[in-house]
Amino acid sequence: MQNTIKSSITFTGQGLHSGHAVSVTLHPAAAESGIWFRRTDVDSEVGYIKAHWDAVNASQLCTLLVNEHGVSLSTVEHIMAALAGCGVHNVMIEVDANEVPILDGSAAPFVEKILAAGIVAQNAPVRAIEVLRSVVVDNGRGSARLDPAQEMSIEFTIDFDAAAIGRQNKVLKMANGAFIKELSDSRTFCLASDVDAMHAAGLAKGGTMENAVVVDGADVLSPGGLRHADEAVRHKMLDAMGDLMLAGGPILGRYTGIKSGHALTNLLLRKLFSDPENYRMITCDDAVSENLPGSGIDSSDLLRSYS
Ligand SMILES: [Zn+2]
Repeated sequence: MQNTIKSSITFTGQGLHSGHAVSVTLHPAAAESGIWFRRTDVDSEVGYIKAHWDAVNASQLCTLLVNEHGVSLSTVEHIMAALAGCGVHNVMIEVDANEVPILDGSAAPFVEKILAAGIVAQNAPVRAIEVLRSVVVDNGRGSARLDPAQEMSIEFTIDFDAAAIGRQNKVLKMANGAFIKELSDSRTFCLASDVDAMHAAGLAKGGTMENAVVVDGADVLSPGGLRHADEAVRHKMLDAMGDLMLAGGPILGRYTGIKSGHALTNLLLRKLFSDPENYRMITCDDAVSENLPGSGIDSSDLLRSYS
């Protein structure tokens, strides 16, 4: 069954790019409505932005949505990943600025409050996107692909010169709370040299050692170090999960990213949907739903508090 949240949830935190305080409130929404954002700081007629792949403006740093009025919202990927991982299909998300707050740089604070609010089943079956043919995109530096599979899984490989990251690979089936348990607390990471370049360009003004893992060569500069030895690749999988949720429903297929990122994953969805032979919409029975993210989750899947 499709799910929404039991009651409204509010988050406040800093925008990564602006450095300003941002408030976000998730509201329950009707079955079949999907995930929508609403900017409350602009005129109400132009503030609605659907969480959908065709509203994405390609970006290396984050996922930016833009509606037909030119109203945009950036950094949607972590909240989208949290909703995907919790199996929430319908929700209205109000934001009072042009970006979603970065919180601790992971999806765990979102997951924690979604689980605490509760998830309710709605009287409509889940519709998933079943991958029928392999689809691949490659930008010369990395690649992303989707292959047919009877479950949703993500495999990711990264390779950084910085010894604190290096080469990392991980593969995970997304059912039974795997996203919450294994990926949701992994934070955004960046190189110390990138931080200087971004600040010089007026970007990432809200970026701190508390909301990103900053590495310099073999050293992890952020206090407390890493949450997982391979936190970086886990975060890339988290990002992919959020970006794939912009397909408009759960994907039944296997995603493989090699040094991929937001722009490539969006290009992959565009290619998938460019040919009707590549996919089909299916109405999920219980057996299929068991292989999708959000099935079998439990409030104890998050091992500690992040608020
Ligand atoms: Zn991210």
